Amino acid sequence: MLEIHGLDVRYGGVQALRGLDLTVAEGETVALLGNNGAGKTTTLSAVSGLVRPAAGRIVHAGEDITRTAPPKIVARGVVHVPEGRRIFSTLTVHENLLLGGYLVRDGAELAQRVEEVYELLPRLAERRFQHGGTLSGGEQQMLAIGRALVARPGLLMLDEPSMGLAPLMVAAVMQVIRDINLGGTAVLLVEQNATAALKIAHRGYVIENGETVLEGTAADLSADPRVAQAYLGGV
Ligand code: ATP
Repeated sequence: MLEIHGLDVRYGGVQALRGLDLTVAEGETVALLGNNGAGKTTTLSAVSGLVRPAAGRIVHAGEDITRTAPPKIVARGVVHVPEGRRIFSTLTVHENLLLGGYLVRDGAELAQRVEEVYELLPRLAERRFQHGGTLSGGEQQMLAIGRALVARPGLLMLDEPSMGLAPLMVAAVMQVIRDINLGGTAVLLVEQNATAALKIAHRGYVIENGETVLEGTAADLSADPRVAQAYLGGV
């Protein structure tokens, strides 16, 4: 469903991606692991159309989207939950969710989609009239994910959803991501918390300096001493 071939991205003199290859199949959860500055966020931004690659190709559902504009990419069902959540803190939970459906013109359809998000994320339903800024960090992450789901993505890209969360909340967020995937949505999950990501992913990639250095099934990566050393806190 998503294929990235030989992707190069440069920011002025900085080469953030060097010939990156990555695929996400229908129904898969793929973890993208790597240290700060490895190029994980840049990969998601390139797929979303927010940065323009210098070389390489991005193909979604058989169509080249390398130079497609961001709103058209969202309309194809490729939705990006950026790092740091970026929810609207002065709007209510409900208003934040409605914004996730800005492409949905039919009001009844939009209301139905928001209700489905409340069913999946009951914590949000309890807080529907609360302002986004008053939610806990984990609830804000749930809201950012819920807002993306209103667009009914076929591919959900999440940038560091566990960042800054307490361990119990990390587990809750990962469980939600697993449930979303079980519902049929493919997931590309950027994480520095490799342990948490590999628990729910089918496959994964490790990138360093904009290049893939390792790839494999989640089980293989978890068992790989190089991954353990660098990303799972040693063995
Ligand atoms: P992090 O986990 O810290 O976000 P990352 O793996 O997501 O790291 P990127 O944010 O993709 O890494 O950054 C890759 C490289 O590109 C880094 O060297 C970074 O400094 C550089 N970079 C990212 N965005 C820009 C920008 N807008 N202008 C210049 N350089 C940038």
